[in-house]
Formats: sequence, structure tokens, C-alpha cells
Amino acid sequence: MTYVITSPCVGVKDGSCVDVCPVDCIHPTSSEKGYDTVDQLYINPDECIDCGACEPACPVNAIFEESAVPAKERQFVAINAEYFKNH
Ligand code: SF4
Ligand code: SF4
Repeated sequence: MTYVITSPCVGVKDGSCVDVCPVDCIHPTSSEKGYDTVDQLYINPDECIDCGACEPACPVNAIFEESAVPAKERQFVAINAEYFKNH
């Protein structure tokens, strides 16, 4: 399983989740290439250890454990994974 970043992150990208992730699996960070052009941040499902630290850190409640992603946000499970196929 993994945690997933959903639509409320779009346009916010404040990075609070990045600061608390123990395995640095949320990208791109503000210091990484591509940060300025992405709509949102993404969680690498292959690296996330399911610790849950990021969920309460998000000021806009954009982060959910995969099985708890709301129905209207389900596409973000694939959107997060897809980002890491190219980065
Ligand atoms: S659940 Fe833990 S490991 Fe996974 S993205 Fe959030 S903080 Fe990082
Ligand atoms: S804390 Fe929430 S809004 Fe901020 S970058 Fe992470 S997912 Fe996006």
C-alpha cells in the first residue's frame, strides 16, 4: 500500500508533507528540477512505507491512504504512480 496525494494539493504545493516524510518519497521538492511546472506533488508508491506522517501535516487534507482515497479522487492513485515512471 501507499499514501496518495489528491486534487486539493493542486496549486498549493507548500511542501509540509515533504518536511515530515522519513524516506523522502514525495517529489518534486521545491529544490528539485520541475517543481515550478508541476501542478501538485506526488508520492512514490514503491518507496512509501505507509507511516502516515504526511496525512495530518497537509493543510488542505489532500493525502489519503490508498484504500481511503475518496471515490471522486481515485484517479490520483494512478496519477501519483505515473509521475515516477518519468522521473
Ligand atoms: S506515508 Fe510516510 S512514507 Fe509514505 S509518503 Fe507519507 S510520510 Fe512518506
Ligand atoms: S502538504 Fe498537502 S498541499 Fe502541501 S505539498 Fe503536501 S500534499 Fe500538497
